[in-house]
Amino acid sequence: MTRKQCDTLLINAELFDGLGGPPVTGGVAIGGGQLLAIGDVSDWSAPDTRDLDGLCLAPGFIDVHTHDDLAVLNDSAMEPKITQGVTTVIVGNCGISLAPYKHPPKLVPPLGLLGDADDYRFGSFAAYRRAVDDAGVAVNVAALAGHGTLRAMVLADTDRPASRAEVDAMRGHLNEALTAGVLGLSTGLAYPVAKAAPTEEIVALSQELAAFPGALYVTHMRDERDGVEEAVGETIGIGRQAGVPVVISHHKCIGKQNYGRSVRTLSMIDKALRHQDIAMDVYPYEASSTVLLPELTRHAERILVINSRPHPEFNGMELSRVAEQMGCDDEEAARRLSPAMGVYFQMSPEDIRRIMSHPRTMIGSDGIPGPQSHPRLWGTFPRVLGRYVREDGVLPLEEAIRKMTSLPAQVFGMARRGRLQTGFSADLVAFNAETVLDLADYDTPDRPSTGIEHVFVNGRPVLTDGRVTGTRGGRFLARGAV
Ligand SMILES: [Zn+2]
Repeated sequence: MTRKQCDTLLINAELFDGLGGPPVTGGVAIGGGQLLAIGDVSDWSAPDTRDLDGLCLAPGFIDVHTHDDLAVLNDSAMEPKITQGVTTVIVGNCGISLAPYKHPPKLVPPLGLLGDADDYRFGSFAAYRRAVDDAGVAVNVAALAGHGTLRAMVLADTDRPASRAEVDAMRGHLNEALTAGVLGLSTGLAYPVAKAAPTEEIVALSQELAAFPGALYVTHMRDERDGVEEAVGETIGIGRQAGVPVVISHHKCIGKQNYGRSVRTLSMIDKALRHQDIAMDVYPYEASSTVLLPELTRHAERILVINSRPHPEFNGMELSRVAEQMGCDDEEAARRLSPAMGVYFQMSPEDIRRIMSHPRTMIGSDGIPGPQSHPRLWGTFPRVLGRYVREDGVLPLEEAIRKMTSLPAQVFGMARRGRLQTGFSADLVAFNAETVLDLADYDTPDRPSTGIEHVFVNGRPVLTDGRVTGTRGGRFLARGAV
């Protein structure tokens, strides 16, 4: 018998289809960046054949919530992601995208979270897309257009609602972005740049999405604290009025008095799901991280200061101790430390588990690249697999994998990704279910995980035997394109 030829053959693995089905023993044949055969591959041969010795083999993980807009250009090896088994990142979340803002005179918070004013250098999403493809990134990159970015471009004063003409101008930019292949619109309505935007402004912008099949509305909601239910209601209403699918980003209930409210928010989502398309994402940590802002200090049990520009000597310290030393209150200390980042301990483990277990919940790191970051940048996916699946039994392994693969591919409209299926792209991760674990913590947030052994992006090996190969396999994934 002459065997069929392919580029790479992976044999002797436990295959997870990404759809939540039970694993089956077998292999995959990879050729031309695609999956050519799955299961029994005994009639295939390849110059590169690897015995996976019983490792789990799954579709590569999709990190639906990232702030890697600049990182994919400046640090295209993307080590924090490929060491977790992530093969695709979605950038442009929380209302902030690097494009299409060119040469801003200043950066309204939180736009500085992505980089400096100089880093905003793409006048269109088409230009950003070209830059991503030219950078030769290790992972695939898909993008959202950020409402905050559009607002900062169009409104001289972002502390008020946009006028009709300004909404039209933003819609023009959004149209360009969607034509260039972005997946949808993101907002960060809790942030200074977007706070003054009324619901109608978002509905009007989201109506632009409706003309592009599959384009969706993704939101860091107006309130994740005392008003979290109203914010979920607003989000559902925007999706319904604009007629577009919605994704609630990093869903959480912040502050002790709000612990347990995910019971209510998830039941609102369940009700709405009977009539419209809703999904959400979550990260597996009790602390969040974002810019250090005085108004955000009130609900947290404790806050770690990171990346303070004016006062680097306080980096890594608790805000309350800094305030003590400064002889002021926490809010004033936050003001003096800015620009800075904070790690805010303010979520309950029960809410995280409840949200993670919901069938419409995906996994997103919300990782913010940079020094002294939150451990989620390096640890999110192995943490779910090691702690939530293996140690605590919150989810079955195949369900956790579904949340990282086929569900995000379906929600964001990524054609031929997220499943082990013939003709699909060969984005793959091989890992050891017995040992996979995050090692990054708040003291050492940039430590790679363990147990992730092999990663392929579009058929190219970017991680082999747990080591980064330097091969670059990724490309820009435009909405609807294969
Ligand atoms: Zn956010």
